Amino acid sequence: MQAAVLTAPGRLELREMPAPDCPPGGALVRVHSCSVCGTDVKMLERGHRDLSYPRVLGHEIAGRIDQVDESESDLSPGDPVQVWPGLACGVCRPCRRGQDNQCESMGILGFNRDGGYAELVALPRESLVRGLCRLKRGADLSLASLAEPLACCINGQELTGVGPLDQVLVLGGGPIGCLHALLARRRGAEKVLLAERLPGRIRMAERRGQSLADRVIDTRDQTIRDVVAEETGGRGVDVILPATPEIDVDCDMLGLLAPRGRISLFSGPRPGSFREVMDIRTMHYRDLMLVGAYGSTSRQNRVAAEMISSREIDVRWLITMRTDLGGVGKALEHAMTRAGMKAVICR
Ligand SMILES: [Zn+2]
Ligand SMILES: [Zn+2]
Repeated sequence: MQAAVLTAPGRLELREMPAPDCPPGGALVRVHSCSVCGTDVKMLERGHRDLSYPRVLGHEIAGRIDQVDESESDLSPGDPVQVWPGLACGVCRPCRRGQDNQCESMGILGFNRDGGYAELVALPRESLVRGLCRLKRGADLSLASLAEPLACCINGQELTGVGPLDQVLVLGGGPIGCLHALLARRRGAEKVLLAERLPGRIRMAERRGQSLADRVIDTRDQTIRDVVAEETGGRGVDVILPATPEIDVDCDMLGLLAPRGRISLFSGPRPGSFREVMDIRTMHYRDLMLVGAYGSTSRQNRVAAEMISSREIDVRWLITMRTDLGGVGKALEHAMTRAGMKAVICR
């Protein structure tokens, strides 16, 4: 089968490789859609903590069951599925507590197991037990591939407790920023502000109007601080959801928060890119919270897949490029140059 394999930072090869065997108790999925994530770009550019080589990348996967170990499952070939990329043990303490994204022996498809930039992806038994999300017949599989990034946003917003009465600031109007904004709306946020500096993305965000954000802040000619002060009566926002690698979480960001304000540390900061000294005093006096978020749990993934298939969250407009596996380089470039939103590799 054909697959896109990362052999070292900067080296992605489109290769012919043997099709994987169906793992005992597991299944093979014929990939229909695998969307390109900012993390894939990060892996290509400089690697990732959880990545090992050589690796078939791709962790935002939807497809159809191709083969299944029948002794283990009532799945049948042809069934449409979306895949939570985590391979969690199910028995360690985080797993037992529903925090399976923090499994003590976590495997991740597209990180340390082969992922979805291929014709087929092998799902081991753990994946069938908790990670596989069955879809309705006729489900749109390219939209379903966006369930994984949406699930990561759910994780960030659950951990920061985004809800009604919250005024939320999203930093970055790329696919993740937009998913965050749509989700915050869905969770009842009172106000959603979205800051972006690229003209193309600002236009796309503005076109969505109120369904996306109450106000799109063009950071080329507006200061986030001024707009936040104006929109919140000087109080500051309740939650900041950074969705761009370009913004450091530092003292200035704390200054945008209202008392009890929370920041989701959603995208991993570049080593050395954050200030070592936080303004701990401000955090103390204003009850501020910095909350990490990595990946999503299998439950959050199921919630995300349902939100997308029910069109509760409309992600159709976020797909701005479709290509086949041969176009994987172009798809990654689409993400890298930030010309559009999401690129999806599909059959
Ligand atoms: Zn991703
Ligand atoms: Zn576990």
